Amino acid sequence: MIREWVEGIFYPFRCPICQKIIVGQKQTICNSCEKKIKKITEPRCKKCGRPIRILEQENCFDCERTHHFYEEGIGIYLYEGDMRRAVHRMKFQNKRVYAKVFGEIMAKEIQDKITKWEIEAIVPVPMHKKKQRKRGYNQAELLAQTIADRWNIEIKKDWVVRVKETAPQKDLEKKARENNMKKAFTIIKNDVELKKILIVDDIYTTGSTVDAVAHILKKHGAQKVYFVSLCIGRGEETGQVDRKNESLIKRESKMCPDKWKKEKK
Ligand SMILES: [Zn+2]
Ligand SMILES: [Zn+2]
Repeated sequence: MIREWVEGIFYPFRCPICQKIIVGQKQTICNSCEKKIKKITEPRCKKCGRPIRILEQENCFDCERTHHFYEEGIGIYLYEGDMRRAVHRMKFQNKRVYAKVFGEIMAKEIQDKITKWEIEAIVPVPMHKKKQRKRGYNQAELLAQTIADRWNIEIKKDWVVRVKETAPQKDLEKKARENNMKKAFTIIKNDVELKKILIVDDIYTTGSTVDAVAHILKKHGAQKVYFVSLCIGRGEETGQVDRKNESLIKRESKMCPDKWKKEKK
């Protein structure tokens, strides 16, 4: 208690979304951001859990056309706007402390699923050794650890290993992503004796990464594989919107606010 108080003075906790210091509130998303950042709700795709649109039925367009190796899964937030920027800071600006906050939220959101799916082990999507050494951490592993601690489930960090350094997925088209993922992983454990497994990742876009991990787990004895991801993309049909957002983010970060105002006039 005292330690937390002292740490709070020297390292005040900042909301992962707006980055403002939070006083007298536990380490989580601040109240005003909580209202702004909406969690995904029903109707969702029965397979991947992303929000479905008017013309979509049980499954999203993506899942309608793709065979997934996992049974089903869920994403907590849409990968856009402030959430997207927060995830980027978690990954690329050493904000590993966010993983604790986000991991707790994920754990809470999937409480019912953990029971329903009878999860016996948690497997984070692994990062290539070289990349992890450079970054110092694997954010998927940190998220997975928090969920595992929360529900007292075994975490298997070294069952699946990333053996191939893959090109950044976001720059690739769907088909190329799948090829990119082929043979990217290997399994250390030859016979997976735990049968129901939850894969944890930070972002789900087309699902090719989760699928590759699910595939290898199943090939080696896992019966059922599920996933939870902190964020999930809107799906193929809105790919253009995503790209537009991305260029907006880039532009914002390059421009200083004054210049931005001037240009707007
Ligand atoms: Zn905030
Ligand atoms: Zn889907």
